[in-house]
Amino acid sequence: MTSSIIVEWNHVKKFVSDSEHSKPKGNTLILIVSKDMKGRLEKIPLGNDRINFLKSDEFKKNILKSYWGNFTKGLLILPCECSDAIEVILPSCHSGFEKDILLCVNVSPSNKKDINAFIKNGFSNPFMKDDKLWLSRTNVIQDFSVTDAKNEVEHVSTATNGSSACQLTATFSKDALTFLKNSTKDGFTINKNGKETQKELSGELYVKGTTRIKGGIVYVIDVMKDSVRSGEEESVDVMPTRYNFHSHPMEAYVNNSVEKAWPSLTDYLGIIHLGKNTIFHCVATLEGLYVVSFGQYWGSRIEEIDKTFVKNNFKINQRTPWTPLEYTQKMNGILHKGNPIFEVKFFEWGKVKPFKVHFSESGKGSKTCITSEKTMKRMKSIVEK
Ligand SMILES: [Zn+2]
Repeated sequence: MTSSIIVEWNHVKKFVSDSEHSKPKGNTLILIVSKDMKGRLEKIPLGNDRINFLKSDEFKKNILKSYWGNFTKGLLILPCECSDAIEVILPSCHSGFEKDILLCVNVSPSNKKDINAFIKNGFSNPFMKDDKLWLSRTNVIQDFSVTDAKNEVEHVSTATNGSSACQLTATFSKDALTFLKNSTKDGFTINKNGKETQKELSGELYVKGTTRIKGGIVYVIDVMKDSVRSGEEESVDVMPTRYNFHSHPMEAYVNNSVEKAWPSLTDYLGIIHLGKNTIFHCVATLEGLYVVSFGQYWGSRIEEIDKTFVKNNFKINQRTPWTPLEYTQKMNGILHKGNPIFEVKFFEWGKVKPFKVHFSESGKGSKTCITSEKTMKRMKSIVEK
């Protein structure tokens, strides 16, 4: 039975002087020792006695393995080689560091053995940087699914390749569909004049988990209920998260005497404004769900899209006698310099199927596909440190 000891190099370098540790490769030394050795060390009170024990030949002889890590600003970067010992290293991280620090590691994407060892121990939120796969976890985690982590790692490490745009397949949870369908009938609030009117709702959607169908991994999207906010009768602000929605309220159909309420020109301009941050935006309507993402070509050139072109082509009167499906075909057929700007999909309530979307890569210098808001935040906090 082994155990680990994590020490700040500055604290021990005065005392440990064997050649192996004299050239530090980080500021944190992780020692693997027998449980018995760790027990003996912990019984010695902090101070000179403990230091003398650490210095003793007996202790040094009993170091089974050692690794260098680097700890700065709430981020502990572990070496990939410690995968064999990660199970015994984690308890020392728990006891020695704050619970919200990030533990992270970067591994060659072909190194399945180490990747699996880290995933099994709660590492996930994959992104690629400089041809390495980065995985991370907070020191203490809740609700972790090894299957989801494996699916996400497999998808992100294969989807991030060369010149092609990122892509993923998504579907909605049952709960999300019920919520989105009801959002067209919700949102009544009382105005200053005392009159009650129905407002548009908007909110963040997030990856609840993954599932597998023939042909690959499917991301299951749910509604982040606390993020839902109410706007005006015919407009609402949307936060630039990976996935988001807004509703077209029932009352607006009556006020405008329309039977269908596909995305408006304002909606399309709003989606351009959300930019690369958003993989897809949903418009929940009485007739069903519209899903809008960028076309493969324009998705990575959003800032070059000519807004006048959008204004001239995407303002479609909602009284136009098209079915929602015909509407999507028309929109998908509008080419800007030979390429569709948007990919628009429509699903009747009760008939939503998994669908594929393209999206832009993230990251500066080295590019990666990022499938969740959580991983986006994770990447920023790791790369920017
Ligand atoms: Zn709208």
